[in-house]
Amino acid sequence: MADLIQDLCEMNIGGHIDDVNCVCPSYADDMTIIATNQKDMQLMLNTAFEHSRRWRYEIHPAKCNFLTFNDMVTDSSVKGHVVLKIGDTRIPKVNFTVHVGIPISSKNDISQYVNDRCTSGKRKFCSLLGLGHKTGGLSPLTASKLYWAFSIPTMLFGAPVINYQASDVEKLELTHREIGKRIQFFPKTSANPSATMPLGWLSIDGYITVLQMMYLWSLLRFNNIYRDITITRLVKMFHVTYDNHADIFSPIRRIFLKTKMLGIENLVKNALNSGYLPSKRSWRLQIVNAVRSVEVKQFFLQCSCYGKLLYLRDYVTDLKPCIWWLICQKYPKCQSQCKTMMQLICNAHVLNTNNFNGSKRCILCNLCETETIEHFILRCPMYEPYRHNIFEALGCRGDSMGVIMKKVLGLSDVSCETLIIVSSCVHKMYNHRANLLALLDT
Ligand SMILES: [Zn+2]
Repeated sequence: MADLIQDLCEMNIGGHIDDVNCVCPSYADDMTIIATNQKDMQLMLNTAFEHSRRWRYEIHPAKCNFLTFNDMVTDSSVKGHVVLKIGDTRIPKVNFTVHVGIPISSKNDISQYVNDRCTSGKRKFCSLLGLGHKTGGLSPLTASKLYWAFSIPTMLFGAPVINYQASDVEKLELTHREIGKRIQFFPKTSANPSATMPLGWLSIDGYITVLQMMYLWSLLRFNNIYRDITITRLVKMFHVTYDNHADIFSPIRRIFLKTKMLGIENLVKNALNSGYLPSKRSWRLQIVNAVRSVEVKQFFLQCSCYGKLLYLRDYVTDLKPCIWWLICQKYPKCQSQCKTMMQLICNAHVLNTNNFNGSKRCILCNLCETETIEHFILRCPMYEPYRHNIFEALGCRGDSMGVIMKKVLGLSDVSCETLIIVSSCVHKMYNHRANLLALLDT
């Protein structure tokens, strides 16, 4: 194929970016030809056809198709009637195709493709769920590792260059959150911020940003035509004021906008100006830190919208997995008690939901209080013996309620061993509550 690529380039027509000839981006025998008008395209197709005759291979007509972009700039007489042929066979015009695994759409509609990616990501994850079923399911952090290793690459293949719409990203986020809740044993209806943050996950949007910036690094790293194009385009964008609506299809344009959003323009500018590119590791670290700080800010904002996630907000200051999931990972026997703790923290519990008359009062005691997690852990007289053990373990005589709550939930500096004792008591209280309610029912 190399000689065909050379022939096409030497014709000196077709797609150029400034003086860089990019007429036929190819991977092995998967070839795309780019032209700015129908006549040039036909000339190049003829060249390709002659090449196939010369080397006696057949171009499969069913595997060829073409897309047109920006029809309004083409000659009005041929608008909508572009006819292209390979030999005598007409090539079908399509609105959507996949080139080396990347979806390309002339109408910028890849929603069906994104749906498929979500489904296969979910399917891959579900095939792993059978693991550990004898021990009550995989620990959340193990399941999380598997998800990032198997499902995410499937869902986000080619993400750095795909032009996602906001609705596409939201679909991916939905799947991402669904799996996050599933991994942590939360009900589907639990609050969105609790789906990803306790596991220390980035959002899909954040992770796409990381992928895009790493893609930029590899573009700048290797000395080839893609590097030339990237540098030419980026230098222009940094130094020329640009129409914001231009280039919606350009991945480099999107990367440029992301560098502005993350406030890391200087990192990229320095690399362009000095010609010195930081190591991959150092580049990644800077990018991930920038993305994380944006994500944590967004998370705080979301938590303020959900008044009941105030405790969760205190856990997540730098996007690391929650202490309870870390304990669960280290001591698999403690899985069920860690689960209970996380349900209480993320407001995915069943407190104040079992009342007959729809009121949120605790029906087990006569304190006439709403059954909040503070009432449950600190005040409800029904759990006094368990509470005694908790206070004993924590040694919190004389502490205020707020301080005790923080200690119980693992928000202050309390050792893992103590937290395990505390959580086991809370877990027993939670089960005790279910038993008491069952007795009330009968
Ligand atoms: Zn009570």
